[in-house]
Amino acid sequence: MASQEIEALAGALARLPGLGPRSARRAVLWLVKRRESDLPRLLEALAMVQELLVECDICGNVDTKNPCGICSDPRRDARSLCVVEEVSDLWALDRSKLFPGRYHVLGGRLSALDGVGPEDLAIGSLLTRIETGDVDEVVLAMNATLEGQTTAHYIAERLEGRPVRITQLAHGLPVGGELDYLDEGTLAQALRARRPVG
Ligand SMILES: [Zn+2]
Repeated sequence: MASQEIEALAGALARLPGLGPRSARRAVLWLVKRRESDLPRLLEALAMVQELLVECDICGNVDTKNPCGICSDPRRDARSLCVVEEVSDLWALDRSKLFPGRYHVLGGRLSALDGVGPEDLAIGSLLTRIETGDVDEVVLAMNATLEGQTTAHYIAERLEGRPVRITQLAHGLPVGGELDYLDEGTLAQALRARRPVG
């Protein structure tokens, strides 16, 4: 039977996305064996995350400053906004370096099943940004899942009648595809070939 300390750490790790109890225990053993080499680096990185990382009040990105590096970069085109579900999607798209504009993170997707409605997502702040800023284009970069597409459709409806061009990532994204699992080439292609909604 494992000690209380090991169970406590394994329990905490098992809460991470994608990590179940089995892989959490394996990770704990891995760390115990490398307590001199890898563990200090991990502790340091975790402390930095706790101390330094903040959420951007404008776009919802996570960075060491607020507004984040993208929102405060004058070279990024504020007239073009790319709307994503999660921060991980923002990072995936930004790695492709093809989108010169700024982002807006919704913080999830509409889901009747999970009880997530429009008021649970950063949709109000998106509409405010579009109204008060000089935004010409909104790129809806939702995942190619049913919920992602429902969310994109809802936002496109809310933007109807506003003087903005609404585009969507091109098909060719695999159905059910989540952006941060896609390789950069596929993402770049989907972004480059984005098409008008409706
Ligand atoms: Zn930002």
